[in-house]
Amino acid sequence: MLSVHTSPLHQPGTGDAGGMNVYIVELAKRLADLNIEVEVFTRAASSDDAPTVQLAPGVLVRHVTAGPYEGLIKEDLPAQLCAFTHGVLRAEAGHRPGYYDLVHSHYWLSGQVGWLAAERWGVPLVHTMHTMAKVKNASLAAGDTPEPAARVIGETQVVEAADRLIANTAEEAGALSHHYAARPDQLAVVHPGVNLDVFRPEAADRAGRAATDPAGRLAAQRAARTVLGLPQDAAVLLFAGRIQPLKAPDVLLRAVAVLLERQPGLRERLVVPVVGGPSGTGLAKPESLHKLAAQLGISDVVRFCPPVGQARLAEWYRAATALVMPSYNESFGLVALEAQACGTPVVAAAVGGLPVAVRDGVTGTLVRGHDPADWADALHPYATQPELVSRQGAAAARHASAFGWGASAAATADVYAGVLHRPAGLLGSSRRRLA
Ligand code: UDP
Repeated sequence: MLSVHTSPLHQPGTGDAGGMNVYIVELAKRLADLNIEVEVFTRAASSDDAPTVQLAPGVLVRHVTAGPYEGLIKEDLPAQLCAFTHGVLRAEAGHRPGYYDLVHSHYWLSGQVGWLAAERWGVPLVHTMHTMAKVKNASLAAGDTPEPAARVIGETQVVEAADRLIANTAEEAGALSHHYAARPDQLAVVHPGVNLDVFRPEAADRAGRAATDPAGRLAAQRAARTVLGLPQDAAVLLFAGRIQPLKAPDVLLRAVAVLLERQPGLRERLVVPVVGGPSGTGLAKPESLHKLAAQLGISDVVRFCPPVGQARLAEWYRAATALVMPSYNESFGLVALEAQACGTPVVAAAVGGLPVAVRDGVTGTLVRGHDPADWADALHPYATQPELVSRQGAAAARHASAFGWGASAAATADVYAGVLHRPAGLLGSSRRRLA
């Protein structure tokens, strides 16, 4: 696997680390469980990075030196692709010929490297976009900076070169054909997953009893609120993820201001945690969300929390009344699945993969557009009707339980098998490696 611009070893939820990092870690581990060994090449971003790190049995991370360790932002990386490719080709040259069976690149920067490496080694190139410039640019937040034309050109080249393109949803596959002229025979849809061992209603037994048991859900919520120091009677409307205009945490804050204007009595109970760090175009003004909360007069209800590890994030989900995702675009939106797996309903924008992740009216609510008044309408029932939260929370846990990473890895292995013209069951037996 190639993951040029961000490492599977980085903490997700801030900077360039997010869903793609989680995706690569989980997918690689589950592929290894299927006896498909994985090596992930990523750019060394610190002098402390060892040349190789064993992430899990059967999963090795290789750090490639390409440019200075620190001080480069993602936008600088196209100039380092040649150095990165050199590092990848060199690593392979140290092995016997035919060491890697297949290249799976993630994000267009890696696709550029994969294009060359796969051709040089005579192996197939499978590519996952994760996000696409044309899709992002079509639904930009007001005042946000569009993705550059160079990225569109680079993505178009990768689509042309790839043997298979893995899309998160049928909608993303449609966008690949519509915007990038992907051929139907290139496209495969594989839903991402959720780690059901980490993200689960804590009070549940392994059979997921709390998923259908409102008392279990409440007990889990109480325990999580104690851990996080949140009041037991609060209505907790949680935002989790990278803080950038595309994710629209500002829409949540504006909606909360509308809610409080309409119903001032809610103020005593309302808590709005924002868990995550600045990212992308949000890095230019990291303080802007704090300023907005102050301008809206809601600094007393908003709590900013730095990004946390997955186990701690699961506590936040369990503690929440609802997870709120007002994003302008999400290729899938892993946090939506994670929160649901913890028995928490999700109020999400009806964009990208979110209508697949969230069942409208059953496991949460899908909202059209970004008008804060509409979002206030959607959030009000969650803040005031515990039975709704409890019913949808139980349905959410059941819904998310169908999205384990094991299924995603098996479907991905099928894609590899198809492109290698081998039965899926024989993939692991070659004891070769996937780069
Ligand atoms: N995340 C995390 N800690 C945080 C916030 C987020 O580990 O404090 C993780 C979260 O578990 C999820 C990922 O970051 O897996 C975000 O993925 P998503 O698909 O929601 O958004 P993306 O970052 O891909 O835009």
